[in-house]
Amino acid sequence: GKNDCQANAFLKELPMMNETITEKPDFDFENFTFGVQATDQMLVAKYENGAWSNFQIGPVKNISLSPLAMCLHYGQTVFEGLKAFKTTDGKINIFRLESHFKRMNRSLERMAMPALPASCFIDGIRELVSKESQWVIDDPEYALYIRPFAIATENKLGVDASHDYLFMVILSPLKAYYNSPLRVVVETNYIRSAKGGAGAAKNGGNYGASLLPQQKAKKEGFDQIIWLDSNEKKYIEESGTMNIMFILNGKTLLTPALSDSILDGITRDSIIKLAPELNLEVEERSIQISEIIDRIASGEQVEGFGVGTAAVISPIKEISYKGDSFETYVQEDAGMYRIKEMLSEIRRGIRPDPFGWSD
Ligand code: PMP
Repeated sequence: GKNDCQANAFLKELPMMNETITEKPDFDFENFTFGVQATDQMLVAKYENGAWSNFQIGPVKNISLSPLAMCLHYGQTVFEGLKAFKTTDGKINIFRLESHFKRMNRSLERMAMPALPASCFIDGIRELVSKESQWVIDDPEYALYIRPFAIATENKLGVDASHDYLFMVILSPLKAYYNSPLRVVVETNYIRSAKGGAGAAKNGGNYGASLLPQQKAKKEGFDQIIWLDSNEKKYIEESGTMNIMFILNGKTLLTPALSDSILDGITRDSIIKLAPELNLEVEERSIQISEIIDRIASGEQVEGFGVGTAAVISPIKEISYKGDSFETYVQEDAGMYRIKEMLSEIRRGIRPDPFGWSD
């Protein structure tokens, strides 16, 4: 159809697609910084005249934009973040590709940007990752991070929805080292996102606005922020750029219910679906910060952790609220570590995947 990238037809016409590189790239997989280097190839598609087209995979190169390009002024940008793993039987697993595709389109819709067809996002990412398969190495700590993103490219200085867009996918190697438990502070001044706002979309502006409060928290000696709701500053929303979860007394998995101010995390969703296997009862509801503080103060065992694609689980050891500190449970037998283990076993094909998350 008109809105179809015709990915496969187009790909066959590109001469570079015929060579599949199998050699390990010239790259130090033992010692590198995440996110500063893309792999060799990228995917690009253009949206013009009401349709996505010009789907291409080719060498990573700089893009050229007019200074009038709308993405540079009014924030019509959307991104995703997902990972490809090498399974123990040597295959490549792109974890929950379909879910990331759906969320990308929800974000695009919120930013008045055109939806992507599955042929661009799903087939395109599969094709790119398979072309770059030498970057998906067999190492339990390693994943190839996939960064799809879309930007407004019409050249016009009027606040309006752009007519032209670029969709790109770049890949970057990632090693998830052990993350030590964090000291987090409940942010009582700034908010991440408001009711009716765009917090449920992966729009660049949400992240830009979070940097100053994050910097201030760092200066005060904290690793991360817990965000509260915009209306009453009473209810827990997220932690940094992750969803937040609690395990109460080893039995209840507690997490804020989704809303238009919370990102619908795919790690969050995966953990909720795995919870019965871990004998955890799930509660998705609004959670007052005072409830968590009271539970800790009264001696209950409370685990707190951020959940997201990048680190999977980011344990919290201390919550600071209005100047007082409260310690959360981080002993080795904590349920959050079992969750992390289980998820990583599914992604690496060690544990069966009853949910169809493996691609
Ligand atoms: N919340 C925010 C604000 C995020 O940016 C992310 C990372 N995408 C998450 C939560 C976690 O989402 P996911 O599990 O899909 O990575």
